[in-house]
Amino acid sequence: MKYMNKSIEELHELLKSGEVTSKELIDESLKLSHEVEDKYNAFVTILDDAKEAPITDNLLSGIPCGVKDNYSTRGILSTGSSNTLKDYVPFFDATAYSKLKKAGAVMVNKTAMDEFGMGGTGTTCHTGPVLNPWDKTRQCAGSSSGSACAVAAGVYPYATGSDTGDSIRKPAAYCGIVGYKPTYGMISRYGLFPFASSLDHLGVLTRNVKDAAIVVDEMKGIDKNDMTTWDSSKIKLKEALTGEVKGKKLCYVKELCDINEYENPSKELKEHLENFFKAVELAKEIGIEVEEVSVNRTLLNASASVYVVISCAEATSNMSNLTGIIFGPRSKGFDNWIDMVKDYRTKGFSSLIKRRFVIGSYVLQSQNQERYFRNAQRVRRLLVDTWKDLFKKYDGVILPVGIGPAKHIDGSLDILSNDLATVALDEHLQIGNYGGFPSITIPDGFVDGLPVALNITGNCYDDENVLNIAYALEKAMPFKGQIAKDGE
Ligand code: GLN
Repeated sequence: MKYMNKSIEELHELLKSGEVTSKELIDESLKLSHEVEDKYNAFVTILDDAKEAPITDNLLSGIPCGVKDNYSTRGILSTGSSNTLKDYVPFFDATAYSKLKKAGAVMVNKTAMDEFGMGGTGTTCHTGPVLNPWDKTRQCAGSSSGSACAVAAGVYPYATGSDTGDSIRKPAAYCGIVGYKPTYGMISRYGLFPFASSLDHLGVLTRNVKDAAIVVDEMKGIDKNDMTTWDSSKIKLKEALTGEVKGKKLCYVKELCDINEYENPSKELKEHLENFFKAVELAKEIGIEVEEVSVNRTLLNASASVYVVISCAEATSNMSNLTGIIFGPRSKGFDNWIDMVKDYRTKGFSSLIKRRFVIGSYVLQSQNQERYFRNAQRVRRLLVDTWKDLFKKYDGVILPVGIGPAKHIDGSLDILSNDLATVALDEHLQIGNYGGFPSITIPDGFVDGLPVALNITGNCYDDENVLNIAYALEKAMPFKGQIAKDGE
């Protein structure tokens, strides 16, 4: 690997000075894509005929990148890692991707993901599980699994992702890289396969905070095709990275971070939390005030169930258009459309997704709506209001990501499988989706030789501040730009 371990600015300098060409970068990135595909199964498509782009003043021009397979890409297979769309080739580009293309970015592959974004393991892709580049016996987490794997393995400096509950920020943590989802509506959702529209965010996975700022500066913007987008033209993420954080205030939640809150904490959880508090000390050393706050335990414990109800309900509705009639391979040998659709959906979706559709249909039934769907919305509001109250006093909430390092590849598929306190820690990033808050994960060390991470989440529209704090903290720790090594 000669170039692809570098940052976007470094690559831009090399391109500008003529020391390397876009073609050379693409060739290296494609070669690495094939190696990473053989070892970790990270891609749905590798674009061997990717063409170089002219070098302009745009920092992204001529530089290779990956795009998650739930982004519509015109003329290029876009499956969302589902058998139901295994041959689907869109006739238009997702807005976010067309913006990257306009900036001169060169897509070299489409990255594998949990089917339609519904999952947190990277093991439900129709092309098989994505393995962690730090340790092949571990998951990458999901659903932006292939993107995280490829960036961590040094295939290119960045890949796009999507995040409905934590799907950018958890894989970034497990792979030792940076994952950023901006405020809801900053990046258009047009052309992203919808999962749960009120929670869906686009974003990016990179190896440093500045690269995340550079890429999202290009992806963001108002779009007439997504009425939830807003004018962010005054927000300049890269320019906001001054590293000046004196007087900034963060808080962490006692109920999630104090080891005494857990009945039988694992050794990994203990080390993960100790590691987190080391980062908190570093934050203090660079001038950030960090305080402990307390949040109602019952409310925290309810978050994961709220997620299940709302995300499954929205997904069931969004995916009712997948019938095998307009999109996807038609089922053959049926003399009526109901049996045809049934066959397509039964054979096409994995069992995890079908289970979620059962939950979604159940909570949306008129006799159940009040008890499940509307109550979940109420608890969502309580959680958002609680975080918004914190943002009155603090620039952000700083918390550990997950309950330790990457889980084993054969680990649980079910997001409701642990005790409540542990689940609350594993799933708190969902609150960032409930409120549409800007949220960034950065690596903060290692447990058992595997990367672990912390997350900073701030108030809506305060992306510049959140990123700048992450940038300053990244500088104070030695984990920036790391490339995964699996020991082979
Ligand atoms: N792990 C969560 C789920 O399974 C998050 C998915 C996401 O953010 N797309 O739904």
